[in-house]
Amino acid sequence: MKHLRTCTLAVLTALALPGMTRAAGPDEKLLAAARAAQPAVIDSLREMVAMESGSGDAAGVAKMTDYVEARLRALGAVTERIKASKGAGELVKGSFTGTGKKRFMLIAHMDTVYPSGILATQPYRLDGNRLYGPGIADDKGGIAVILHSLAILQAAGWRDYARLTVLFNPDEEVGSVGSGETIAALGAEQDVVLSYEPSPAKAMAKDEGVLLAAAGTAKATLDVKGRSSHAGAAPELGRNALVELAYQVLQTQDVAKSVPGAQLNWTMVDAITTRNQIPERAQAGADVRLTLPGADERLLAALRAKVAEGHRVPDTEVSVAIEVGRPPYAAGERGLVLAKKAEAIYAELDGRKLMFHPGTGGGTDAGYAGRSGKPAVLEAMGLAGWGYHARDEYIEIDSIVPRLYLTTRMLSTLARE
Ligand SMILES: [Zn+2]
Repeated sequence: MKHLRTCTLAVLTALALPGMTRAAGPDEKLLAAARAAQPAVIDSLREMVAMESGSGDAAGVAKMTDYVEARLRALGAVTERIKASKGAGELVKGSFTGTGKKRFMLIAHMDTVYPSGILATQPYRLDGNRLYGPGIADDKGGIAVILHSLAILQAAGWRDYARLTVLFNPDEEVGSVGSGETIAALGAEQDVVLSYEPSPAKAMAKDEGVLLAAAGTAKATLDVKGRSSHAGAAPELGRNALVELAYQVLQTQDVAKSVPGAQLNWTMVDAITTRNQIPERAQAGADVRLTLPGADERLLAALRAKVAEGHRVPDTEVSVAIEVGRPPYAAGERGLVLAKKAEAIYAELDGRKLMFHPGTGGGTDAGYAGRSGKPAVLEAMGLAGWGYHARDEYIEIDSIVPRLYLTTRMLSTLARE
């Protein structure tokens, strides 16, 4: 997840009623436990960053899988591995059975966007309030918040839930293609789902926050069929699919700007050929983001209309397709209730503010978790950080205690309602 657009809480602040009581003080026991847990959280972060786990790195992701499963077992969870329905990897599901009434699920992902060997140039390191490391915010920080929040609650003897489910998936950064359906199915069994993507660092967004909406994702494909020919001896007999593809990429690059709820960027190209052959096939792939229902169909129609306007290379065939991926996430009314609760919990901490981020172009698994419309879902419960999907990813150490406090207080309060 990345690129949160930010807004302030001005609107909500304006809605606050005059004479509203000041925020109550914190739950001192939980806060003390959160403070005491900070060094252990940092240990967990260091251990997880040391396990490179790019989505395509099966061995690396498997190390993370073993690690989180062992950690969940140590907390007393009954664990289960669920094979991803597509691609490699397994989800880790931890279940706790309690004595209360509610069903809660906490989700985060084990994979990162980085290639193997990234630690050689971007090692784990501490600098002031920042801890750096590939994946430390997105999403190892989220995993750490879940594990240590549960440890705090368990030490406090909290069992006020019917079922508490923890779900870690191995493929979020490649669209959760093999885990999305499991997340959606388990999401439909919950009252509340909290998702632990990072919150933007305070260096970027002033205050820590939660996220109220995220785009759905899709992939668009442009496929060009031309004719092969010897590139040296008879180039004129060929129909260059690569040249036509380049033309169509340029011709369609701004099409989404006229389609409400859609964003498109061509990001991949493949011409499957050799140097001395005029290529007969070429394909481009685009990253597509969707925020409105039906935007995928409207975008497809717009792309086809644009392609039909003309070709650069005669006798080439161009086809367009869109494959829809992760559903959009919208907190909605019930998610907003959770966000306001989070805001009140933050206020218990020395009047600290919590930002409500209205939306992001980055997709999140909260979309799958809430697809059924059954649970209340809130996103960005992870640590504050920045640089994800970029360079020099970091978390802010001073977000650890507030985030542990937020989760532990949120769960124990929701359970009583
Ligand atoms: Zn993420």
